[in-house]
Amino acid sequence: MSVASFDVVVVGAGLAGLAAASSLSAAGASVLILERKPFVGGRAYSYEHPTLHEEIDCQHVLLGCCTNLIDLCVKSGVADRIRWYDELTFLQPGNAPRTRLKPGGMPAPFHTSFDFLRAPMLSMRDKIAIARGLMEFLRGYPQNDNESFATWLKRTGQTEGAIKHLWEPVIVGALNDSFENCSTKYAGQVFHESFLKSAEGGRLGIPTLPLSQFYSYVAEQCVRQGAELRLSQSVTALNRDGDAWRVSTSEGDFAAHNVILATNFHQTGSLLPQTNLAFQNFKNAPITTVHLWFDRQITELDHAVLLDTGIQWLFHKSRIRGWAEERGSYCELVISASFEQLHQTREAIFSNALRELAMFFPAVNEAKLVKSGILKEARATFSVTPGLDAYRPKQETGVPGLFLAGDWTATGWPSTMEGAVRSGRLAAEALSRSAGQNLRFFAQEPQAAGLMKWIAPASKL
Ligand SMILES: Cc1cc2nc3c(=O)[nH]c(=O)nc-3n(C[C@H](O)[C@H](O)[C@H](O)COP(=O)(O)OP(=O)(O)OC[C@H]3O[C@@H](n4cnc5c(N)ncnc54)[C@H](O)[C@@H]3O)c2cc1C
Repeated sequence: MSVASFDVVVVGAGLAGLAAASSLSAAGASVLILERKPFVGGRAYSYEHPTLHEEIDCQHVLLGCCTNLIDLCVKSGVADRIRWYDELTFLQPGNAPRTRLKPGGMPAPFHTSFDFLRAPMLSMRDKIAIARGLMEFLRGYPQNDNESFATWLKRTGQTEGAIKHLWEPVIVGALNDSFENCSTKYAGQVFHESFLKSAEGGRLGIPTLPLSQFYSYVAEQCVRQGAELRLSQSVTALNRDGDAWRVSTSEGDFAAHNVILATNFHQTGSLLPQTNLAFQNFKNAPITTVHLWFDRQITELDHAVLLDTGIQWLFHKSRIRGWAEERGSYCELVISASFEQLHQTREAIFSNALRELAMFFPAVNEAKLVKSGILKEARATFSVTPGLDAYRPKQETGVPGLFLAGDWTATGWPSTMEGAVRSGRLAAEALSRSAGQNLRFFAQEPQAAGLMKWIAPASKL
């Protein structure tokens, strides 16, 4: 029986798969994307909740230094659905004054110095320790990932206030695990790229559409370029058939000269049972989000870092999405590295979260809670544990016509949307090289600004 044949089958319509498919279909390849779920976006997904009657997602944010993700959004026509913020607000429970960090008139790396020096959440000792610590990442971040960030904090004499009010919210938020399970390399990258290198690199971007709607723009762009997208079609086996691949799915088989496996490491392991990839070295970390709909506004802030409590970040989604005030407040609370919450009941998570939220915003006590929901994502990200780089595979596998993509492959980035897009583009470039072409799909790397043009032109130590 003859089967439909393609230049490339991309397995998985997460950001890695979509990025690879977008690059290759733009270059004229015939591409089939197979996705086992009924929506695109992979872990950056949204879905219609059956009882809440809302399309919900776990808020994903990007930074100005995510140049490949931004480029993909620009090319797909969805970049104007990202709302950009220059300012971060840090709140302590009670009436403590707010800390606001935003770029002022000074050149990078001093662009936030004015606000940093005034920050009420930090004592002078904390500020001196932080400034000393940041000096280590001024010229770049280590290429070697053997040291844990916990060791670094000790080595650089960080104070308790500096840890609790700056290093922890930023690093646990960005890398989603404890300091012991994050390498200094990736923690340093976060601070170098987003705090020091330029004001632009640290801007916070928040999609204003539910995530699967947002990323359907990328999928539609692939289809306009000639790619075929099949949802709810799970790949069950990959077999070499002569000089091509036979891709078996729940709905039938396809033939392809090349396969890009853009799945996470668990799924890749089950589709490549004979592989010698060291999956056992990868560890997942969870994220829990609490969704609350109030009958009125509980704060004028769009988002905030919540200090000294279990809830870590507030996204005021009704404001971010531009709802009319009369519709009330839709708030999402994010708990990163939520290992503890994985074992707690929904009632316990919910009542803690509500109590803690009221410590920051007393209006919560007067507002009526209209509805609520909790999302627990046990395998939200992989942890950049010290030494993991040695086990992150390249996109080129050495097996003819087989390429890997996914945030967990070797990208030089942690488990993020930018890392996923980079992996997809790297896989597409590797495929193009194997076909004797040398197509480049990468966007320009984040650029240094101000004095950083001279201090850190290359960024890696
Ligand atoms: C709650 C949460 C919050 C996060 N917050 C952020 C954030 O703020 N910023 C950020 O940058 N990142 C964030 N991340 C991480 C980010 O979502 C991931 O790094 C990124 O989406 C990974 O993309 P990927 O394409 O590599 O993998 P995935 O998204 O896992 O995509 C793999 C795809 O392959 C499909 N698939 C698997 N097996 C098969 C099969 N056999 N056949 C067909 N299809 C298959 C899957 O269904 C999936 O769609 C967050 C993640 C979560 C879960």
